[in-house]
Amino acid sequence: MSARVHDVVGVGIGPFNLGLACLSEPTGLDAVFLDRADGFRWHHGMMIEGATIQVPFLADLVTMADPTSRFSFVNWLKHTGRLYPFYIRESFYALRAEYDAYCRWAAAQLPNLHWNQEVVAIEHDAALDVYVVRAMRTDTGEESEFLARHVVLGVGTRPVIPPALRGLRGLAIHSSEYLDHRDALRASGSITIVGSGQSAAEIYRDLLDAVGDGCRVDWITRSPRFFPMEYTKLTLEMTSPEYTDHFHALPLGMRQQLGREQRSLYKGISADLIDDIYDTLYRLSAGGPVPTTLLTDTEVTNAAWDGERFRLRLRHGQLDREHERETASIVLATGYAAETPPFLAPIAERLDHDALGRLEVARDYTVDGGRGRVFVQNGEEHTHGLTAPDLGFGAWRNSSILASILGREVYPIERRIAFQDFGVPVDAMAAAGASR
Ligand SMILES: Cc1cc2nc3c(=O)[nH]c(=O)nc-3n(C[C@H](O)[C@H](O)[C@H](O)COP(=O)(O)OP(=O)(O)OC[C@H]3O[C@@H](n4cnc5c(N)ncnc54)[C@H](O)[C@@H]3O)c2cc1C
Repeated sequence: MSARVHDVVGVGIGPFNLGLACLSEPTGLDAVFLDRADGFRWHHGMMIEGATIQVPFLADLVTMADPTSRFSFVNWLKHTGRLYPFYIRESFYALRAEYDAYCRWAAAQLPNLHWNQEVVAIEHDAALDVYVVRAMRTDTGEESEFLARHVVLGVGTRPVIPPALRGLRGLAIHSSEYLDHRDALRASGSITIVGSGQSAAEIYRDLLDAVGDGCRVDWITRSPRFFPMEYTKLTLEMTSPEYTDHFHALPLGMRQQLGREQRSLYKGISADLIDDIYDTLYRLSAGGPVPTTLLTDTEVTNAAWDGERFRLRLRHGQLDREHERETASIVLATGYAAETPPFLAPIAERLDHDALGRLEVARDYTVDGGRGRVFVQNGEEHTHGLTAPDLGFGAWRNSSILASILGREVYPIERRIAFQDFGVPVDAMAAAGASR
């Protein structure tokens, strides 16, 4: 008996592939999703009490594609008896813990999600013209294979550790594991946070509550300032299909430059949190000097552990001057980055790569030379820009992927949502063409 060939095998079940599972469920598509984790848990190391998601609740798994879906956040609120409290709370921003619980509620309704399955290789069976997804159970080591006409990669991003801070012994952790080590950090007596984004700020604010117990908290960033995430509405219009069209069509060099320039759009700190930090420092300083140092434009160029403390060598950018600091523990809030999953090696020659060896992701999220069978989710920031990691754009991307797979638009796909034009307006292009 020939093995079953699935229409879709999704690798990774983070919010983006979970959204695909929810949106494909009503279509009858034969799809299975694999994840090496033992169940859905969203950024558990950063599930800080009271933290909210940074996008409106409509940016759930399905609503922007299908507001009638039974997998919506509002339906979860109804099912959990939280709808009226959420309504009275009058905030667009759900708690991070709510978003996690909501995703687990959605996942629990989908029998085609397979947990404890680590994908270790993807091969192409030329005879059958299908992809062979090889997985290994993380709990038993048992191997299995899933045959697929289409593969959707939703493996997320990896923690980034700067070279000067790699391989450290002692208590040096990436922010993704913060809550697992919070007590040990507090007990260490002095903590240094390295990094400038939302995670760094949330951890700094959380640890400020410990300075009363004789704990020192320092915050160091390479950025010239602690910059806010920009939320103004004309800028938010860049989280749109048409800005993604514009960005994708730009040459590699220009995309690289814009990628650096657009950091403040989604790698900054929410303005409310910056003010909360300031107000907390102000309140604490009423009782005398606060045991904290905040340093900007300062890079950690070296770190050494002497068995008890870290000695950090620091360089101030504008002054081009070096100095040293000691600390008992370090939190590396140094971000995340997409990488080409090693399990793609067996099919590398079927995939497109750019001049820097990264996957060259086409506008329709495919990476397989126009065959339209291997898709990427949240691995395309270098080709599509700031919409890649944005929860608010996940449903649009999934609608596009489903339309490519099914050959029809199951969910209406907006082509234009912004008031502004990005690039040269079409009519001006036509006029320019006519006058030539
Ligand atoms: C702390 C934090 C807060 C964030 N908050 C927001 C926010 O509020 N708003 C927003 O728009 N964005 C936010 N983001 C950015 C982004 O939306 C999230 O990172 C989101 O989780 C990305 O979803 P994903 O599906 O791409 O990947 P992930 O959530 O990273 O999931 C990837 C999954 O792939 C699995 N996997 C990996 N490799 C394999 C393999 N070989 N085999 C099987 N499974 C595998 C992993 O186990 C994991 O479950 C946040 C990011 C962080 C770190």
